[in-house]
Amino acid sequence: MDYQAILEEIAEEVQPFFGKGRVADYIPALAGVAPGKFGMAVHTVQGETFHWGDAAEPFSIQSISKLFTLTMAMRFIDDKIWERVGKEPSGNPFNSLVQLEYEQGIPRNPLINAGAMVITDYVISHTSDTRAAILSFVQYLAGSDGAAYDEQVARSEKETGHRNAALAHFLKSYGRLDNPVDTVLDVYFHQCSLTLSCQGLARAFLFLANQGVFPQSKARIITPRQTKRINAVMLTCGMYDAVGDFAFWVGLPGKSGVGGGIVAVDPGELCLAVWSPELNASGNSLVGAKALELFTTKTGRSIF
Ligand code: GLU
Repeated sequence: MDYQAILEEIAEEVQPFFGKGRVADYIPALAGVAPGKFGMAVHTVQGETFHWGDAAEPFSIQSISKLFTLTMAMRFIDDKIWERVGKEPSGNPFNSLVQLEYEQGIPRNPLINAGAMVITDYVISHTSDTRAAILSFVQYLAGSDGAAYDEQVARSEKETGHRNAALAHFLKSYGRLDNPVDTVLDVYFHQCSLTLSCQGLARAFLFLANQGVFPQSKARIITPRQTKRINAVMLTCGMYDAVGDFAFWVGLPGKSGVGGGIVAVDPGELCLAVWSPELNASGNSLVGAKALELFTTKTGRSIF
């Protein structure tokens, strides 16, 4: 399949959708991102790579980082993670306090903020320098496209992340965090501040399209069963309150972040990453979601 030609067609067809969304500004350091940025990258399990536009430019991956820590936690303790976090779509905002109280501090899934904090807590318990461990895991997966913490974004989240702090204290009050709240928040804000390009993301998550094996080095990252679990959670919980819409229009497991990135996995075939900072009402990249919809429509690829 000529993915390069398809990316070029998509870039043309999404033009009318620019200017219709809004860049996230609840994290002040994100508000200054140029809204017209747009990149796409495709990496196939066969080793081919395709990209378009700003695909090499690092951006704030935000909640996409939850997939990295989830993968790390599964490597450490496998299915034990499900003792403190569920696997159902939340049907509520990703930072809802009400739902967490109602459900006695068991977050609905690992991809909403509270669930990700529980996962981060597990990772902290199994690493000595957690920030360094996460960064080197991401750098290993993303390769030469590099990954880094954006200290300005991390600080901005720390200064304004009162709701996230409330979620962490809530979790602690229910005995769901083993480590101090400040430690969990510090790591959580840093993982959200990670920057990576579309190319880096498409490479990093290729193992999710390849039964848990990193195609470049043939190294096993996680088992096929764990890969199935993560892809299933992405499909049902990865796109905020628009998972149904995303499954309907795109038909692939995906995870988005408020920085405007989305990664999507086509098991057995490829990983695709897009970036466009303007978000739709659900908090997903407006142009990014449209690009993914066009990609699966044009290629006929989806898991359904
Ligand atoms: N750091 C962001 C927050 O916790 C992540 C949000 C997201 O990308 O979903 O609010």
